[in-house]
Amino acid sequence: MNDQGRKTVAILGGGPAGSTLAAYLCKHGLDVTMFADGKRPPLIVGESLIPAVVPFLRELGVEEEVAAYGTWKGGATFVYDRDYHLNIWFKEVRGGNTPKYSYNVPRDRFDATLRDAATRAGAALVETTGKLERVGDSDRVRLTDDTLAAARDSLAGRQPDWIVDAMGRGRGLPKLLDLPVDAGSRRDTALHAHLENVEVEVETNVHTDRLSRGWSWRIPLQGRVSVGFIVDDASIREFGATAEEQFDNLLRHDPKMRDWSAPGRRITPVMKYTNYQARVTRGIGTNWALVGDAFGFVDPVFSSGMLIAMQSARQLAAALADDSQRALTDYDAYVKANLDAWRSVIEHFYDGRLLTLFKVGQHVRNKFWGKLVDFHFRKHMPRVFMGDDVTNPYSSWLVEFMSTHGLYGHDPEEFRIL
Ligand SMILES: Cc1cc2nc3c(=O)[nH]c(=O)nc-3n(C[C@H](O)[C@H](O)[C@H](O)COP(=O)(O)OP(=O)(O)OC[C@H]3O[C@@H](n4cnc5c(N)ncnc54)[C@H](O)[C@@H]3O)c2cc1C
Repeated sequence: MNDQGRKTVAILGGGPAGSTLAAYLCKHGLDVTMFADGKRPPLIVGESLIPAVVPFLRELGVEEEVAAYGTWKGGATFVYDRDYHLNIWFKEVRGGNTPKYSYNVPRDRFDATLRDAATRAGAALVETTGKLERVGDSDRVRLTDDTLAAARDSLAGRQPDWIVDAMGRGRGLPKLLDLPVDAGSRRDTALHAHLENVEVEVETNVHTDRLSRGWSWRIPLQGRVSVGFIVDDASIREFGATAEEQFDNLLRHDPKMRDWSAPGRRITPVMKYTNYQARVTRGIGTNWALVGDAFGFVDPVFSSGMLIAMQSARQLAAALADDSQRALTDYDAYVKANLDAWRSVIEHFYDGRLLTLFKVGQHVRNKFWGKLVDFHFRKHMPRVFMGDDVTNPYSSWLVEFMSTHGLYGHDPEEFRIL
C-alpha cells in the first residue's frame, strides 16, 4: 500500500501489454509504477492490428493519434497462388460489435503512444530495466534493491503489493520460478524487414501468401511495406547463413515470390524470431501475474498477438482491483481459454483446412443450400478473424465443424502449409 492506502503495482515491461495494463489499473485507482527498458530493435513485429483492437484505442483515447501515422486496414487478402486470391472485407461481415476496420502501425510509434497514455492516466514511468528475485524458495518475488531504488519517487522504498511480468517473450518471471511452458506444435523461424516498391493486391489489406515452404505477410505501412517470412527452422538454413541472406534469397528465389510483379527493395536490417509459440501453464501467483506475451503467444498468422495482450491487460487490471481469489483465478482461466481458442483456429490454417474451406465456400455460394450455409458462415467466420468472436462457443464450434465437415470431399493437403 502507498501512503494514501492505495494498492501498489509494479509492471516490468513498457510494451503494449504493460502500458495498457498500467492505464487500466490507474483508471481503477491503483498506484502504478511501470519499468520500461527502452531497448528497441530497429523494427518490431506486431504491426497489423485486428479490428477488435480499435475499441481499446478508443478507450485509451489514442485512436486519432494512431490513425495519423497508421494505415487504414479494411480487410485481408489470402494469396493461394498466382491465379487464386481471396479477399475478406471487414465491412461485409454481418453483426458483431467490433468496428469493421483497423490499422497497421509502425511499432515504435505505437508503443510510444500507449506508454504516453499510461503516464497520462497517472502511471509512474521508470526508464530502466526492472529486475526481480525470488523470495527464498517460495512462490513470491520481489524487486531487487537497485530496481526498488530506481523507483524511489513512486514506491518510496517499499516493495509493491503486486508485480506483473509484461516483459514479452523474454518471460523473466516464469524463468525465475521455473514455471512449466507449453510450447506450440510448430518450430518456425520468422524473418522480418521493411521494403519499398512492393506490389500489394489491395492497398488496404494485410496479405498472407502461401509459399512453397511456409508463408509470408505483406503489411502496408506509410511509404513502405512490412514483409515477413515464416519458414520451418530446418528449411531456413537452405537459404543462407545470416538472416539477411535468408530473407533476400527467399525474396528472390521462392517460386511464389516470383508471382509478385515488383519484388521490392529492402530498406532495413532483417529481424529474426524463433521459438515464439509458448504458453506458461500458470499466469497468477502469490504476489505476481503475467500479462501479454509473457503469459503466452500463439502464432503470428492472424495478427492476434496485440489483441490478446490488450484483452489480458484489461482483464488483469479488473482482477487486481477486485483482488479476490475468484477474480484472479478467472483471469488465469480467461487468458488460457483465449490462447487455446486462437490456437485451434490457427492449426486449421496450417493443416490446409481453412484455406480449403474458403475456396469451397466461393464455389458453393451460388447454390441454394450453399446460400443458407454461406449466410451463417459469412457472419461467424470472418468475425473470428476480426478478433470479435474467437471465444464465442458457437463461432468456434462452427469453425471446427466446417473445417471438418464442410470441405465437400476436397483434400486439405493441397493447401497445407509446409
Ligand atoms: C513473427 C511475429 C509476428 C507478429 N505479428 C503480429 C501482428 O502482425 N499483429 C499482432 O497483433 N501481433 C503480432 N505479433 C505478436 C506481437 O508482437 C505481440 O503479441 C505483442 O508485441 C505483445 O506485447 P507485449 O507488451 O506482451 O510484449 P512486447 O511487445 O515484447 O513488449 C515487452 C516490452 O518490455 C520491455 N522489457 C523487457 N524486459 C524488461 C525489463 N526487465 N524491464 C523493463 N522493460 C522490459 C521490452 O523492451 C519491450 O518494450 C507477432 C509476433 C511474432 C513473433
